[in-house]
Amino acid sequence: MPKKTKKEMVRTPKGMHDVLHGDLRYVEKIMEKAQSIAEFYGFLPIQTPHLEFADLFLRPLGETSEVVEKQMYTFRTKGGDLFALRPEGTAPIMRAYQENGMSSWPHPVKLYYGGSFFRHENPQKGRYREFRQFGLEALGDSDAIIDAIVIKVLYLTLKEIGFENAIIHINSLGDKECRPAYKKELAGYYKKKFNYLCKDCKRRLKENPLRLLDCKEEGCAELRPQAPKMIDHLCEQCKNHFKSVLEFLDEGQIPYFLNHYLARGFEYYGRTVFEIFLETNDNEKIVDKKKSGEDASANNAVEKPSTAIALGGGGRYDELMAILGGKGLPAVGGALGLERVVNEMKRLNLPPQKTIQPKVFLIQIGPAAKKRSFRLMEELRAAGIPVGESLTRDNLKTQLNIAAKIGAKIVLIIGQKEAMEGSFIMRNMYESTQEIVMQNKLLEKIKSELKK
Ligand code: AMP
Repeated sequence: MPKKTKKEMVRTPKGMHDVLHGDLRYVEKIMEKAQSIAEFYGFLPIQTPHLEFADLFLRPLGETSEVVEKQMYTFRTKGGDLFALRPEGTAPIMRAYQENGMSSWPHPVKLYYGGSFFRHENPQKGRYREFRQFGLEALGDSDAIIDAIVIKVLYLTLKEIGFENAIIHINSLGDKECRPAYKKELAGYYKKKFNYLCKDCKRRLKENPLRLLDCKEEGCAELRPQAPKMIDHLCEQCKNHFKSVLEFLDEGQIPYFLNHYLARGFEYYGRTVFEIFLETNDNEKIVDKKKSGEDASANNAVEKPSTAIALGGGGRYDELMAILGGKGLPAVGGALGLERVVNEMKRLNLPPQKTIQPKVFLIQIGPAAKKRSFRLMEELRAAGIPVGESLTRDNLKTQLNIAAKIGAKIVLIIGQKEAMEGSFIMRNMYESTQEIVMQNKLLEKIKSELKK
């Protein structure tokens, strides 16, 4: 491997970024909102490692999935183990369920997480190699209400951040009873169009025809609107399940759009699959948000615009545990992509709460005053009074300028004399008045001055 030049050494790897305080405030706001809604609905926090055995992802995601085919960061350790930087959160949660004996917990086991995921994608806006997700998983129940709850938590998170136009694209992929017949018909349809398919899809056709529905290549995308729909092949149970999910969404006034060709990339999905978009007025036409069940099958799905990127997605994965070698366990989950939500918050001018600048500023002049300030800062913190400072500076004017810049109302000045006496000069910057205050009266005085 060629050695990195000094310039290259001080750059983040392609598609990965430092997240500075400006953006972190957005991330924090999303996480706080999502967490509080998730906790209300009984989800508990969990953290899993960033590294897992690569096998945990290979079969569950599917050897033919984009992530496994092209995007997983894997490496072999000196001991010979093949590890992967986690590309997604669901398979690790399933592993954690087994490893931590969660089968003995009350079901469904409802968990949420936040953190980084890694995919070797071509970086572009909204697509990074390290990205962050807030995710939810509910394990051990097949009731449609839990699908709707997962969707609701993600939807409400966006809504309460200020997105008025989030919409759920939803479909059912059926189960292992009814999906094979659909896949066969889909394969039959695409076989007839074989010459129009892209190179990857020609290969995927044999391995997993559902993947063709996802293909972004123009030629393949053009074939999609005439392709057979899963909804016409759902067995009675899957149809009822889907209908029920949609009825819960209606009940919760969660707008959705039946996207008959939504398949999502991973092998483990079955029944409900969904993605969350922001409805745009220009190029996205939503045919009917409110139709559900069989009515909806008559509803002509419009293609989601190729330019739109999903803010989140998820679905039911009742077959995943069996793929991992465990006993069958119905489960459903979903995640929001935090970078994408942040980008949209900025675009739509939905800033996180501004950090409130402290209204008190501490100025010290001379070594004794600096020592006293060191202790005083802690007394003010304990009293719940936010205070600004510039303790490394010694010049009065410089410190006064900073105080003025942040808009401090009260400035506390300690010089050599005050440090000896245990007093402060308290200056009200708004009224340009000042007085001497003794230590034992300080907190009380600050509070009353701030209230004015
Ligand atoms: P997925 O795990 O593929 O179902 O993705 C769930 C959500 O994570 C997507 O809807 C995106 O918002 C986000 N996401 C997935 N991949 C990326 C990526 N490479 N960069 C940024 N966000 C991503």
